[in-house]
Amino acid sequence: MNILLFGPPGAGKGTQSAMLVEKMGMKHISTGDLFRSAIKGQTALGLEAQKFMDKGDLVPDSVVIGMVDEVVQGLSGQGFILDGFPRTVPQAEALDRMLEKYSLGVDRAMFLEVPEEQLIARLSGRRVCKGCGAVYHAVSHPPKVDGVCDSCGAEVIQRPDDQEDAVRNRLIVYKKSTEPVKAFYQQRNSLVEVDGTGAVGNVFGRLEAALAQ
Ligand code: ADP
Ligand code: AMP
Repeated sequence: MNILLFGPPGAGKGTQSAMLVEKMGMKHISTGDLFRSAIKGQTALGLEAQKFMDKGDLVPDSVVIGMVDEVVQGLSGQGFILDGFPRTVPQAEALDRMLEKYSLGVDRAMFLEVPEEQLIARLSGRRVCKGCGAVYHAVSHPPKVDGVCDSCGAEVIQRPDDQEDAVRNRLIVYKKSTEPVKAFYQQRNSLVEVDGTGAVGNVFGRLEAALAQ
């Protein structure tokens, strides 16, 4: 099963992707995670991406598309979930060409709908593990021991782009550059909109129902 998971920043894409991967075993391709791992490794790609990410801007299309192409090329028949890509219409068009090139298809394009006030509360409270990337929330889903990951014991921190100024900018960038991607898939009647509000387990149930249709 090949899935695209869209939605505004903080909609729960990473949280739900982790649950889908655990249940269905596909490969999770998160462009944000790929960039964060490149930053951690201090690679040329990471240093380039960090300039944009810390401010909440998008990394240029050519950089993102090249990175995703390499990952998609390396998939050997395993299903995938693309989380956070495409985020612009040129990326969506490039994805079409890429899928054709590697004879791959998409079974579901799913959009997680969450109102803006909830996004701000989710993003400002988000905490992530520096080691394994597990996602927490300071209020609704804190780690058992403050600042320590339940899964791997590494430090749990706030992402630089979850600071107030970057969050505000990411929501503006989302409206300008990423919302048109929703229309791109809507025009093809291939987008399933899923209510991303309420408890994590309830959202997961809705995604599973959408996948079963
Ligand atoms: P995205 O990958 O779309 O940016 P995340 O999965 O990282 O979003 O979630 C953003 C924040 O919101 C995290 O702190 C996460 O714990 C929290 N969160 C995710 N899903 C829900 C939900 N259904 N209700 C409340 N908080 C949620
Ligand atoms: P995320 O982890 O999905 O919230 O992404 C974090 C940041 O990585 C974004 O704010 C962008 O700076 C960058 N990024 C991730 N995916 C993309 C993409 N598809 N296009 C451009 N920038 C991206």
